[in-house]
Amino acid sequence: MPRTKRISVVVVGSSNTDMILRVSRVPRPGETLLGGEYSTAAGGKGANQAVAAARAGGRVAFVARLGRDSLGDAALAGFRKEGMDLSRVVRDCGCPSGVALIFVGADGENSIGVAGGANQRLSPADVSAARELISNARVLLVQLETPLRTVEAAARLARAAGVAVILNPAPARPLPNALLRNVSILTPNETEASVLAGVRVAGVPSAARAARVLIERGVGTVIVTLGARGALVATRAGVQVVPGFKVRAVDTTAAGDVFNGALAVRLAENCTLGDAVRFAHAAAAISVTRRGAQPSIPTRAEIEALLLK
Ligand code: ADP
Repeated sequence: MPRTKRISVVVVGSSNTDMILRVSRVPRPGETLLGGEYSTAAGGKGANQAVAAARAGGRVAFVARLGRDSLGDAALAGFRKEGMDLSRVVRDCGCPSGVALIFVGADGENSIGVAGGANQRLSPADVSAARELISNARVLLVQLETPLRTVEAAARLARAAGVAVILNPAPARPLPNALLRNVSILTPNETEASVLAGVRVAGVPSAARAARVLIERGVGTVIVTLGARGALVATRAGVQVVPGFKVRAVDTTAAGDVFNGALAVRLAENCTLGDAVRFAHAAAAISVTRRGAQPSIPTRAEIEALLLK
């Protein structure tokens, strides 16, 4: 059997290195603050979701662009440890790897600048080069930190091959109906649902209204994540709320990414939508009890243990 046949989830998306500087407060323009504490962390929505899917038990391929630089080397080494198929990760000689520069003040306030770098050069041609992988997968998982035309090309290719498309529409931006029509499952949080549907979303009734707008525009299923409250799942047949798990949250960074990675894996295993959402809730709930993005992502065994509780 060709290698590509074994892949269950293909993630097309971004990889960043977060460079975090903890300081007494976020510096003002023109100001230099001494006494900071520096750390780096692997990030980027695409990479977070791919790692989440791999740890949740998926056979995952990641389609991405990294610079030919030391940050790209480190990111790639991290992905290798997760056992992902990296045959379609392109090393870009003309552009640095993506970085996010993050100041965090003692009060938790932050200030972030992102240079997408190589992520901005992930192209429809890169998607075409991954045609075999995508069309033999069960699920394609995409986000919006790479060029929209690349996301559109990936969704079109998957749809034509009968592969389910999950679009996590983050960061928030309006989207054309032509893309939404190729999306099997759209997974906005409340902010993203507001921007996409043009309906102010805060809580279940308004999330249901936004979901109906998006279904009218061509999406198959809409899952609006509602933080600690869980998620609203809407199809043409109706709407239900699937509650989340009660945990002591210490850091909700990447909760949505973990939710999406785990959701993709469970759907690729052919289980029901309700089951997949519960599985994704369990994965995301564990991640919010731990600090950081990729370090907080749970394994399959941890997710199953919480589901059995
Ligand atoms: P995002 O992180 O994209 O803003 P949400 O805040 O809606 O998205 O969270 C995504 C998912 O993460 C939720 O549907 C839920 O499964 C889980 N989650 C987030 N916050 C909590 C929390 N405080 N307790 C338990 N689960 C949470």
